Amino acid sequence: MNTFWLSLVPVFWLTLIAVLAGMMFDPAIVLGLYSVILLGIVIYHVRTLHALEEWLHQPDLSCSTIPDRSGLWGMVFARLARFVRRYDKERLGLNTSLERLQRATSALPEGVVILGDQDQIEWCNSAAELHLGLNLGMDTGQHITRMVRQVRFVAYLEAGDFSKPFLLKQSRLHDALLLIQIVPYGDREKLLISRDVTRFEKIEIMRRDFIANVSHELRTPLTVIGGFLETLLEDNKISGEMEKNALRLMSDQATRMRRLVEDLLTLSRLENAGNNLVEEKVDVVKLLQELYQEAQSLSSGRHVISLNLASHAMLLGSEDELRSAFENLISNAVRYTPENGIISLNWAVESGKGIFYVQDSGIGIEPDHIPRLTERFYRVDRSRSRETGGTGLGLAIVKHVLNRHQASMEVTSQPGGGSVFRIWFPANRVMPVEAICEIKSSGAHLEESA
Ligand code: ADP
Repeated sequence: MNTFWLSLVPVFWLTLIAVLAGMMFDPAIVLGLYSVILLGIVIYHVRTLHALEEWLHQPDLSCSTIPDRSGLWGMVFARLARFVRRYDKERLGLNTSLERLQRATSALPEGVVILGDQDQIEWCNSAAELHLGLNLGMDTGQHITRMVRQVRFVAYLEAGDFSKPFLLKQSRLHDALLLIQIVPYGDREKLLISRDVTRFEKIEIMRRDFIANVSHELRTPLTVIGGFLETLLEDNKISGEMEKNALRLMSDQATRMRRLVEDLLTLSRLENAGNNLVEEKVDVVKLLQELYQEAQSLSSGRHVISLNLASHAMLLGSEDELRSAFENLISNAVRYTPENGIISLNWAVESGKGIFYVQDSGIGIEPDHIPRLTERFYRVDRSRSRETGGTGLGLAIVKHVLNRHQASMEVTSQPGGGSVFRIWFPANRVMPVEAICEIKSSGAHLEESA
């Protein structure tokens, strides 16, 4: 029999006795007595329920405070006491783990801030307090942008694109450089991690300065050596064929080194964060017409080159940098396309975005190499790159120029089937002036249709 029926047994007995007594004595008196006993039972249960309710406010597990330890109520209290004991144990365990976790995160050299769904500070460790000037006790609940007020940081947070970290300069910390990484999680919550990268940045600056200085120092001697070698070759003062060949070789190598030095200097200029981007209106059509002429002379009639201008839109950016990026892609197309190959230079605007692309029918690139092309000195075919006068820095320069213009590059290629290098410019850099103009040429022939 389960506890429910067991607890009803006294009531059944009481009712049975009342019925029998009712048959033998005065039913009114028996009913009165029966009701009084029932009322007593109800009062007992209501009292115990009240005691339970009070006990639940602050459950104390010592036996003396458990309200009733007999019958059904005893079982209820015993079960509740078990739950409370288990809950207390789990809570204690959780508190210990939480404390351990907090101690561990506090010991982290990285700052950690937990941001709520409205970007309000919910918790931070001591490194974050130091990095961002926070005070956990006072700043909990404050919006993070009230504590880190830099306009660029606010824009970064509002843009919601956290694929790249944010570099924050903290004047409070003697211009320390903090790398801020935001990791969204859960229901619109975020983890903000700050890392002090001042030391690495200093090493990086030293590396850049070293390359820039060495390149700069090499420039003059190389120009002098190259100049003398050319003069010697032009003056025909050297008669022996072997000596002439040696001079030619020296002159070629001096030219190659000069090109390398120039590319290294261009790269360090682009890498220098202090070098702000010149924001000017770039007449892409004019620029591409000039580059098209350069491509013709570089190709010397060995390729069919066309220029397709589907838009007269201008670009907002640095003309010199864009020229250098476009020039590199065009010269690659000429250098990696065999004779009689087809090359097209294209400019258009699609869905508000500017697109410049160079298509060639050249040697193409194996898919494995494509993700690494913009690395410095990465060449698919080293000897071919050297033979055609490459420095291995062209696409690294392109990548830096594009980063500075918030543009992206897409490469599609098929080994033996040619390549397409596409550059996408964001809509806010495109200044549309719609017009259709196409210039086509094959070899020395030039044709224009408006
Ligand atoms: P390089 O000076 O060697 O040309 P780049 O940085 O300009 O250096 O290019 C890197 C490598 O990418 C090149 O060495 C070449 O192997 C490959 N590459 C670039 N453009 C093309 C192209 N249009 N067709 C085939 N391969 C290309």
